[in-house]
Amino acid sequence: MIKVVLISHTPDPEALVAAAARLCYSSDSVEKIYSRNSSESNSKFVKMLSKLGHQSPLEHISFTFGIEGVSRIFLAQLTRHRIASYSVQSQRYVKEVGFNFVTPPQIESCEEAKKEFEDLVNKSKLAYEKISEILVKKQKESEENQNCAEKLAIEDARYVLPGAIETKIVCTFNARSLLNFFSLRCCSRAQWEIRETAEKMLILVLKVAPNVFSTSGPPCVRGKCGEGKMSCGKADKISEKFNNLYL
Ligand SMILES: Cc1cc2nc3c(=O)[nH]c(=O)nc-3n(C[C@H](O)[C@H](O)[C@H](O)COP(=O)(O)OP(=O)(O)OC[C@H]3O[C@@H](n4cnc5c(N)ncnc54)[C@H](O)[C@@H]3O)c2cc1C
Repeated sequence: MIKVVLISHTPDPEALVAAAARLCYSSDSVEKIYSRNSSESNSKFVKMLSKLGHQSPLEHISFTFGIEGVSRIFLAQLTRHRIASYSVQSQRYVKEVGFNFVTPPQIESCEEAKKEFEDLVNKSKLAYEKISEILVKKQKESEENQNCAEKLAIEDARYVLPGAIETKIVCTFNARSLLNFFSLRCCSRAQWEIRETAEKMLILVLKVAPNVFSTSGPPCVRGKCGEGKMSCGKADKISEKFNNLYL
C-alpha cells in the first residue's frame, strides 16, 4: 500500500512566502517586512499572489516527503520531475529480501492476469537469489573482492528484478515545483500509482500551507482542461473532488 509521510517542511511556510513577496513591493528593510507578519494578512497576500501568478516567492518554501510501498515504475515517473531532490533505497547496497512488489489494481482484480503476474515475479525472485548466490561465490574466489562480494553480486543480479518491485524514497520539492507536479499528476490522465501518491502529498501540504495549495491539483480545478481530445470529460466531478479537499 502506498504510504506518504510529510517528514519535514519550512517552518511557518506562508509567513515566509508573504515576506519574500512583500519585499518585492516595499522599500522597507527585510527585518521590518518580516516582523509585519500576521497570519491573517499573510493568507490574503498568498492568495493574491496565486491570482497574479507571481510564483517565485513559492520557491523559498520546501516540503520533504517519505514515500513507501511504491514501485520502481513509479520511481521512474517521479524522478522526471527535475526541480526536486531525491534519495532512493539502493539496489546496489541493499539486498532484496522481503521481495515486496506492487500489483496494479487492474491485475489484482483479474485472476488470470494476476496468476501470470505472480508467476513472473516469483521467477524473477528465484533468478535474483540464484544469480546473487552464484556471483557471491565467484567474487569470493578473488582475494581483492572478499569484503564487497555481496555488493558486487547484487548490483548485477538486480537486472532481473521486475519494475513492480517496491522501493522507498525521500524527496524534497519547493512549493512552485509541487504546484506543477500536482497539476500534471493529479490529473486523471496521469498513471494511477503516481496519481494516488500525488493526491496523498497534496492532502498533507494542504494542512500546513492551505493558501499556497488552495487551487492546486489538475488544471480543470482552476477552470479549463488543457487535454483537448484526450480530456477525460469529467472536469465537474474532478473539480468537486478537489474542492472538497480544500475545505
Ligand atoms: C500524463 C503524462 C504522460 C507522460 N508521458 C510521457 C511519455 O510518454 N514520455 C516521456 O518521456 N515523458 C512523459 N511524461 C513526463 C513529462 O514529459 C515530464 O517529463 C514530467 O511530467 C515532468 O514534468 P516537468 O518537466 O514539468 O517537471 P520538472 O522537471 O520538475 O520541471 C518543472 C518546470 O521547469 C521547467 N524546466 C525544467 N527543466 C527545463 C529545461 N531543461 N528546459 C526548459 N524548462 C525546463 C519547465 O517549465 C517545467 O515544466 C508524461 C507526463 C504526464 C503527466
